[in-house]
Amino acid sequence: MDYKASPCNPFFYHIYFMRCYIKNGANSTYYYKDILRNNDFVFNPRYNRWQKDCSSSEGKKYARFCRRRGLNFTIEDPKYTRSTDYRQSFFKERPYDRGRKYRCVYCGKLLKKSQVEVDHVIPVDKAANYNKYKRLLRLSGCKTINDVKNLSASCRKCNRRKSNKAGYWIIRGFLGRSFLYWTIKRTFIGLFYSIILIILGVCIKYYV
Ligand SMILES: [Zn+2]
Repeated sequence: MDYKASPCNPFFYHIYFMRCYIKNGANSTYYYKDILRNNDFVFNPRYNRWQKDCSSSEGKKYARFCRRRGLNFTIEDPKYTRSTDYRQSFFKERPYDRGRKYRCVYCGKLLKKSQVEVDHVIPVDKAANYNKYKRLLRLSGCKTINDVKNLSASCRKCNRRKSNKAGYWIIRGFLGRSFLYWTIKRTFIGLFYSIILIILGVCIKYYV
């Protein structure tokens, strides 16, 4: 679940819950464990941190609490945080692109399911840190960064090259899903080579 509706009125008041993390800073969280437990924080031993989902106003309160006590505080908006199940969601919504294969949206290569790397077209850290990418996400009809509309199949090589790049890569990421785009691209490449060959032919005919 990416965000929760208010438990008291799930239909009218949609309060976005942020994910707060408290870690050891100048002081250890150990001294404040009772306070944290009383405030419904849960300790995650894997990351050695306390965590809780709370509203942004509560988040500000905890930020002040941590600042005064020398603890390390971070807050994340789940809307712009990579989920753990986005790969499964992608394959559930998009069984295959062509035949039993997926097409890499950046280079057009056909891939088996096991070769596919699911890529966030609008990169996670761009959306988390810049308002213009949050706007772009909304404009492309995505509710969260892990919305299937923001996910594309990519080959390993293209995914490494793209990394968290935006701009031109975002356009390619969205256009590359369309079969028409690849048809037009191939036609233009075919035309381009045909023109080059005609020019070479003319040059050979008149100048050699
Ligand atoms: Zn590729």
